[in-house]
Amino acid sequence: MNKLKSVCVYCGSNFNGDLQLRNAIKQLAETLVNQEIRLVYGGGSVGVMGVLADDVLALNGLVTGVIPQFLMDKEVGHKGVTEMIITENMHQRKQKMADLSDGFIILPGGFGTLEEFFEVLTWLQLGLHNKPIGVLNVNGFYDPLFAQMDMMVQSRFLKPANRDLVFNEAEATTLIEKMDGFSAIPDEVWFRDRNLS
Ligand code: AMP
Repeated sequence: MNKLKSVCVYCGSNFNGDLQLRNAIKQLAETLVNQEIRLVYGGGSVGVMGVLADDVLALNGLVTGVIPQFLMDKEVGHKGVTEMIITENMHQRKQKMADLSDGFIILPGGFGTLEEFFEVLTWLQLGLHNKPIGVLNVNGFYDPLFAQMDMMVQSRFLKPANRDLVFNEAEATTLIEKMDGFSAIPDEVWFRDRNLS
């Protein structure tokens, strides 16, 4: 059991105002602060990103933002975070966010959120790190994503063991508890009959 000390949260640079999502963000912030877990995130003050950072800061929690210079204007770099790290580009940003974190969570978001999620997930699958990854599946937002993963398993593009590397929970406290106990080993062996043509 490895108690998480910092968690990277990938989430939308937009926020649709949904009340259930608003509550889930608040609960995640409370869980992080109560358990003395530092938030690492994309550094913006807009969208779900900004709401989460504000909630953690309002509870006197620790927040590290990591943002490339060119996004400082677009995602409106947060002015009140505990620490802001400015990188030269997106690759450095993602590397830095990953290095600083003991685990990764996604909240609802768009392409950017999924890109970041799948990168750390594929790194886990390849054995490049062994940190837990969790989906905070608010109101079933990510059910279609898990359905797609099941389709990949059925179609033999994804091993069931690797499909199961990701936690899927609706409650922040349950998600963090499961992530604390994570010790899964990815199945790095390719399908034996890789080429079926
Ligand atoms: P979105 O989910 O599209 O609102 O984006 C959420 C976050 O992902 C934002 O902070 C974006 O800057 C970031 N993002 C967008 N595209 C990429 C990408 N190709 N690589 C890494 N991060 C990205």
